[in-house]
Amino acid sequence: MNIFELNESAVRSYCRSFPVVFTQARGAELVDREGKRYIDFLAGAGTLNYGHNHPVLKQALLDYIASDGVTHGLDMYTEAKERFLETFNRLILEPRGMGSYLMQFTGPTGTNAVEAAMKLARKVTGRETIISFTNGFHGCSLGALAATGNGHHRGGAGVALGGVNRMPYANYFGDKASTIAMIDKLLSDPSSGIDKPAAVLVEVVQGEGGLNVASADWMRKLEKLCRKHGMLLIVDDIQAGCGRTGSFFSFEEMGIRPDMVTLSKSLSGYGLPFAMLLLKGELDQWKPGEHNGTFRGNNHAFVTAAAAVEHFWKDDSFAASVGAKGQRIAERMQRIVRRHGPDSLFVKGRGMMIGISCPDGEIAETVCSHAFDKGLVIETSGAHSEVVKCLCPLVISDEQIDRAMDILDQAFAAAMKGSTVTQAAG
Ligand SMILES: *Cc1c(COP(=O)(O)O)cnc(C)c1O
Repeated sequence: MNIFELNESAVRSYCRSFPVVFTQARGAELVDREGKRYIDFLAGAGTLNYGHNHPVLKQALLDYIASDGVTHGLDMYTEAKERFLETFNRLILEPRGMGSYLMQFTGPTGTNAVEAAMKLARKVTGRETIISFTNGFHGCSLGALAATGNGHHRGGAGVALGGVNRMPYANYFGDKASTIAMIDKLLSDPSSGIDKPAAVLVEVVQGEGGLNVASADWMRKLEKLCRKHGMLLIVDDIQAGCGRTGSFFSFEEMGIRPDMVTLSKSLSGYGLPFAMLLLKGELDQWKPGEHNGTFRGNNHAFVTAAAAVEHFWKDDSFAASVGAKGQRIAERMQRIVRRHGPDSLFVKGRGMMIGISCPDGEIAETVCSHAFDKGLVIETSGAHSEVVKCLCPLVISDEQIDRAMDILDQAFAAAMKGSTVTQAAG
């Protein structure tokens, strides 16, 4: 038994799939204590879009620490915060016509930003319930957990999870059924038993839920539905944002204007804990300190986040490179599907948030375990852990993508050979 198994709580999870001790990380690579190198297709579950220890961000942080820059200052004004506000506004919000949105710094994790959004929506509208979707994931603190679909996570609550109505996500009942029309009918019927909700909380691409994608059309209809029934639209862009789908926000080219947007994971750019709620100005009805927290706005994260925005988002070249790499990964994945399971495997997702859906979780987990043996860190997602999910750093090189896809190809060959599904299909 190693010290982790001996002294750390059984709640640990990712380490069970990758049971080695990691010592170093750079870009898209991890190194373990034995010196074995791995390509990282998990990347902090989407926290390391700019890779591990990016040299530009690292230098900005080292300089800040060396100059005794403020590390912790509650929510007081600091130069680091000032620089982040200015940079994010100038390079992200203004160019996207979102200059009037305000930034609220919540506690440092994604679930903190979701809690703040749900609380504010209830406060502003005077309504209690929030609509969230099948297979949605929004975090594990009680408010956000109520909005999360996953039964394994919900089971840990120990109290009733209330204040949320679950509705079917885009294509939940196949591509013929309009889930928007279903929701509209439920909300329009005073005897449906569904009270008018304060807000709708939605991921544009469901990260943990298995890379289910909402189309621009569905998102536009959802926005319209929100306006019709006086509900606020909250986009949870914690995983799909910060460039993962090719643009900074996942909804950018859809022509919608969410009332609130949650960001975390890759927002600091460096893997530092950091979360933010973007909100339309008129919704800012908080009283000073009403939603409080000791770690709101992490100054080290302000430094690296500002440096990341400055380095990657000053023009369109980074977004273009994400598009091209996403295409490259998708093509390689299509080839894997054709070779190892044209009738049972398929590619799903958007941008660099894509994966291969397997007939069951056992196959997907076998693929990931084979891949790990060959030096690729990759995880599953989805209701049955059936999707092998690529979340590699967006800065990964083409050569690293090809190497990872060669490994994935071998892993699928091995997993599909042993599976009864292909034998039955073949
Ligand atoms: C990861 C995630 C969260 C929760 O973030 P934590 O930092 O784990 O609390 C919320 N929403 C989405 C979409 C996520 O992917």
